[in-house]
Amino acid sequence: MQVVRTVGELRQQVRAWKQEGLRVGLVPTMGFLHEGHLSLVRLAREHSERVVMSIFVNPTQFGPGEDYDAYPRDEEGDCAKAASAGTDLVFIPSVTELYPLGAETFVECLHLPNHLCGLNRPGHFRGVSTVVAKLFIAGEPEVAVFGAKDYQQLQVIRRMARDLLIPVEIIAAPIIREPGGLAMSSRNKYLSSDERARASSIFQALNLGRELAEAGETSSRVLADRMAEVITRAGGRLDYLELFHPETLESCEEIQGPTHCAVAAHFGRARLIDNLRLVN
Ligand code: AMP
Repeated sequence: MQVVRTVGELRQQVRAWKQEGLRVGLVPTMGFLHEGHLSLVRLAREHSERVVMSIFVNPTQFGPGEDYDAYPRDEEGDCAKAASAGTDLVFIPSVTELYPLGAETFVECLHLPNHLCGLNRPGHFRGVSTVVAKLFIAGEPEVAVFGAKDYQQLQVIRRMARDLLIPVEIIAAPIIREPGGLAMSSRNKYLSSDERARASSIFQALNLGRELAEAGETSSRVLADRMAEVITRAGGRLDYLELFHPETLESCEEIQGPTHCAVAAHFGRARLIDNLRLVN
């Protein structure tokens, strides 16, 4: 597995592969890899002959007071895991490699960020869509794989690539969970073992919502209250729990068609997110 740190080296290798007729898949990450990230590599492999993973803790998607400095980093461990999952090249740029000094150009999706995480994290999706656009331009992948765990991010990236006419196929990967149901996340490192056990209430709440919806409950208020109770009883502090249309992200008062639910909740110093389709 190659490790490169500059856009020039990345482009040179990707273009060489393309000249050989090989399809290139990209898996963007912020590192501190877990099984969720590695599942993305395996999925990328199914859709392409060469897999590039980027590891970059993107400063522009963190707000003031968020965990940019504390975000866990482990370059050596990440490279070993990426290689074991079949990654061909890891791209580990510095901040100035992706944001040249004086950079003042951003990519902003106008409406999709006005929901869910975007409300509590102003500027977050501007940072995400900007860095992913840069990675698409630098790496010229035919396909790129993103986890459904970051549901809103996935919608924003799909829209960004479509709107900017970037010829990349976006593939969604299912959420990989711990045995108790907690969605895997680099931020799970912040949890004590007690908090980790209690945080599985997020997935329990989502499943309860789905069961109630399947049993015929259509009021979002009733469903949200029942689900929220499961999380708060376990000691979680909710940022939001929303029922919404899976594509527009517009919240719905009554379930009338396809409905998705997303949650953000704090356990200890970790802010955790998860989501589930309630009604297809
Ligand atoms: P991150 O390093 O947290 O920015 O995540 C990088 C990519 O991995 C994103 O596309 C995430 O959605 C995806 N990802 C993170 N955790 C999981 C998980 N538990 N299951 C599936 N994909 C995940």
